[in-house]
This record gives sequence, structure tokens and C-alpha cells, in this order.
Amino acid sequence: MGSCRIEILTILSVLLLFFFQFQSIHGWGEDGHLIVCRIAQSRLTKRAEEVVENLLPKSAENDLGSVCSWADHVKFIYHWSSALHYIDTPDNLCNYQYERDCKDGNGEKGRCVAGAINNYTTQLLNYGKHSKYNLTQALLFLSHFMGDIHQPLHVGFTSDRGGNTIDVHWYTRKQNLHHVWDDNIIETAEERVYSSNVDDFIKAIQRNITTEWDDQVKQWETCSYNKITCPDIFASEGIKAACEVGIQRCNRRFSSRR
Ligand SMILES: [Zn+2]
Repeated sequence: MGSCRIEILTILSVLLLFFFQFQSIHGWGEDGHLIVCRIAQSRLTKRAEEVVENLLPKSAENDLGSVCSWADHVKFIYHWSSALHYIDTPDNLCNYQYERDCKDGNGEKGRCVAGAINNYTTQLLNYGKHSKYNLTQALLFLSHFMGDIHQPLHVGFTSDRGGNTIDVHWYTRKQNLHHVWDDNIIETAEERVYSSNVDDFIKAIQRNITTEWDDQVKQWETCSYNKITCPDIFASEGIKAACEVGIQRCNRRFSSRR
């Protein structure tokens, strides 16, 4: 069982890193999460595949991608979960520290996307044993949060709410920067490069995983200090990337965070 859960987590981590490396796509809206989860599920070992199939709700018909945005939909019911989708870091520092930054709006520690990844991983370690946790929810939360933490603006400056208050133009449309990364980049790539066919988009990423990015796989799989989860590495990469897209130069205006 131990190796099974490590494989699930490693594969999710690695695939999300792969996804992040794909320079033309960074946003994680409905399709972004679907793509990430479909790729992850397609690369599970036999045993991990069985575990995921057992945990998925019947209505998902064994398609993790179809329920990968569940965590976004339920945050309006599970209000406590809203803070688990992102991390606010101090303005302009361009770095992340778990102890300093992983907290919710009330300052409660561990309530951020990195803390959530650790928490739901710990819950899933109980698969096969008696557990007080709902492991189906744990799987759906973990799959979703592994996507969110790789969207650089989910680890962003506090004052601009992860780019939500920054106005930009995406082609002819006025948008906020966070939304552009969550949705518009992926939608545009899908429409223009893959004729709106998400399966072709997924195949293209899968091809890159086994060709161009092949030499990076080992590095993506490695978690420092033999930890099982690596959210701190992902979060640090996220804020660095957020700074590199030059968010300071953009106009600011309020809108809601996804
Ligand atoms: Zn989310």
C-alpha cells in the first residue's frame, strides 16, 4: 500500500510539474485541471489505478479529470476550504516560506494550498486501513490542489490577490491577470492549436513528457529530504514565476479569486 500511495502522489506531482514546464500553458481553470488529472491518471501503476478507481465516485466513470474541479465547486458549500486553494506571500519579496506564509486570512497556520497537500496526503496514507476521513474527498482535494499550486498566481502577492486586481488585455478582451492564467491561456491554445480538441492537447503534452522533457523527469520526481510531498518546492517555483511575469507593471483593479 505504501508504494501505491507514493506512486499516486509522485505521478501527480511530476505531471503537474511537466504541465508547468509547458511554456504556452499555465492557467488552471476547468480544462486545466481536467488535463492535469487525465494525464496523471493515465500514468498510474496498475495498483494505483485500482485505488483511484475505488475512490472515485461511480458518477465519474473512472475519469479523475471529470471531477478534478470539484474542489472549486464545493468551496461555496465548504467555506472553510476557500483558503486552501492558494498562498499569499509578502508583496515584492518573490519568495515563499511555509512557516511565514502558509496561513489563512485569520492567521491560522497550515491553511493554504501547501498545507492542504500535506494534509490530504496524510489522509490518503490511511487507504486500506480504518480511517475517519473521507478518502474520496481527500483524493479529489489533493488532485485539485496539486494543480492549483502549480499555477504561479496561486502563490502570489497578498495585496493584488494573486493577480486578481491586475487588469490586462487578453487579445481583445479585458481580463484580470489571474483569470488569464487560470483559463484564457489554455482556452486560446486549445482553440488555435488543437481545434478545441482537449484530447489532442493532452496527447501533445504526453508526447513532450516522453520526448523533450524526458531528461528532466528524474529532477521532477525528486523531493528533497526524502519527503513524500513537495509542496514547498512547487510554491517556491510558483512565486518565482509569478514575479517573472512582471505583475508589478500592470494596472490593478479588484475582482474575485478563483
Ligand atoms: Zn482551486
